[in-house]
Amino acid sequence: MKTSERSEVFFFPYDRGRAFLRGLRILFSKVANVVSTGDSVAVKVHMGEYGGSAYLRPPIVRRVCDLIKEAGGKPFVTDTTTLYPMGRFTASKYLSTAAYNGFTEESVGAPVVIADGERGYDGEWVDIPRQVSDCSLDKIKIAKKIFNADSLIVLSHVKGHDLAGFGGSIKNVAMGCVTKESKAAQHRVNRGVIDLSKCTGCGQCVEACPFKVLSLLEEKMVRDEEKCMNCNSCLYLCPESVYSMPPQAQERFQVSLAHAATGVLSRFHSKVAFINFVQDVTRSCDCVAPSGFPVVPDIGILASTDVVAIDKASLDLIAQSKPLGKFASINSPDILGKINGTDSLVQIRTAQELGLGNMTYELKEQNKNAK
Ligand code: SF4
Ligand code: SF4
Repeated sequence: MKTSERSEVFFFPYDRGRAFLRGLRILFSKVANVVSTGDSVAVKVHMGEYGGSAYLRPPIVRRVCDLIKEAGGKPFVTDTTTLYPMGRFTASKYLSTAAYNGFTEESVGAPVVIADGERGYDGEWVDIPRQVSDCSLDKIKIAKKIFNADSLIVLSHVKGHDLAGFGGSIKNVAMGCVTKESKAAQHRVNRGVIDLSKCTGCGQCVEACPFKVLSLLEEKMVRDEEKCMNCNSCLYLCPESVYSMPPQAQERFQVSLAHAATGVLSRFHSKVAFINFVQDVTRSCDCVAPSGFPVVPDIGILASTDVVAIDKASLDLIAQSKPLGKFASINSPDILGKINGTDSLVQIRTAQELGLGNMTYELKEQNKNAK
């Protein structure tokens, strides 16, 4: 982990076309030393929700897998199950959604593996070395197949996020590399506050709760606080707005993300690299379908071994862009944070405070002499 010197972030702009094949070859060469001959390499990627379209396309992932093989590694493409009950709730559902979205062993040139097992609880606990900003997260359960890998290449689609403001590598590692228990632990800070006076006893949330922890008693909803997994399905579904987000939920959520990322990355030390794709930058994350309109034009690809620097650089590049269409009136910086009602830098500042990396970076453009 880097803390003092300026970190290098390599940048392949899309200003001469979206030449991702060439860009990835150039950028991967800058971080390829995280892969040693014979390494089992987890390629972490969100393979898209059913009905989404802004997720990273399979040929991008294929290119990275081919480059890992050239470097002597043995890649597998991986992600984890979700807390919410859509197309990725179990491993078998996820594999079916992944295939629908174009991710198969044939298309990406590597096995597609759901890292936390069928139900999403297979993993290994690791301690989070220290806590800041009153965060109570002191351990994290890394998804088993990711935990067992020798090195980790994190491919992140940079976009907005309803809670975090912005989602890049920190978010991808923190939420995407852990089991359901640890997803729930990070979401604990945004568990809905209940105003039962509004409840009409319609039962819709009881029916929808994927963990069956809601019931009705005398025509009012009752939540089992011990067993609630904080998936927020009830919050988004209730027609009477019985549930509401607690104060500072978004900022506290980002603090949790930074802690979780610290736990996951402690497993890999110098054997991890991050590649951020600033393209199809939608206001919401790839769990949301349909994906929505782009916020800014496509910008390019970044690579680094510093998770803090690459996310800060990605946000800075977005800040330098002109927002599109209905987002045109949003001012820089932190366009995605403003759209989603939070300060996206909280996660980045907290990650730096935890020693994960450096917000001061040098952006090294790689496409200058291209025709
Ligand atoms: S969906 Fe809302 S109104 Fe209906 S039972 Fe649940 S909390 Fe009550
Ligand atoms: S009570 Fe609501 S937040 Fe908790 S698990 Fe059920 S649907 Fe999810």
